[in-house]
Amino acid sequence: MILETLLVFVLGASIGSFLNVCIYRIPAGESIVSPPSHCFACGEKLGLVDLIPILSYFHLRGKCRRCGEPFSWQYPLVEFATGFLFVLVFLRFTITWETLAGWVFLSILVAVTVIDIHHRIIPDKIVIAGLVLGLPLVALQSWESLMWGVVAFFAAGLFMLAIMVISRGGMGMGDIKLAALMGLYLGLMNVAVALFLAFLVGGVVGIALLVTRIKGRKDAVPFGPYLALGGFAALLWGNQIVNWYMSLWC
Ligand SMILES: [Zn+2]
Repeated sequence: MILETLLVFVLGASIGSFLNVCIYRIPAGESIVSPPSHCFACGEKLGLVDLIPILSYFHLRGKCRRCGEPFSWQYPLVEFATGFLFVLVFLRFTITWETLAGWVFLSILVAVTVIDIHHRIIPDKIVIAGLVLGLPLVALQSWESLMWGVVAFFAAGLFMLAIMVISRGGMGMGDIKLAALMGLYLGLMNVAVALFLAFLVGGVVGIALLVTRIKGRKDAVPFGPYLALGGFAALLWGNQIVNWYMSLWC
């Protein structure tokens, strides 16, 4: 089990490395396949040995070996986080179609989180990729999963649309599309858990930022990271969260 877990971590960290490419290039409208990875400052190509997840960053001491331009610490962080999330999914679902769907789902949430924090957008390309990969991966679990996934896709999307109309722009179209996508992967009950957690945590943090005056009432705060956090928790512990919440009331 230890060896399998280690392999899953390496797989996740490698996917994290690919997510780093997506995170930088998709908002800039660049291709994610070419040109190969290079230093942004001097154009020095990164060889195979420079592209080992996490380790290369430390081997290069976080900077380009030709011009010394520092590389963002976000690279190893995203790689480590993705590896860690892959391990959590693997330990929860072992080797099943749920695992594969969970890996794809959390990879999308990682990319969305980082892009939304930097650019305040959730790119359509990522949501569409999630949809194209998600439909077969959910269908492979069972036809029932697919049916409920599709129902939850529309239910979550319409719910968020209603929130956007009521709050008059507190929510972006990207948030609505992401919530709908989360419905496909999570199903009806778990997407409800995810949205509940997103609004709860987003609300608490929002109030804290206002009270401490870090952010003003007019500052835009990206909601994607909260949706992602809710989606992550609901995927792994949806049932436990529902049971715990019910036990508070009866
Ligand atoms: Zn350089």
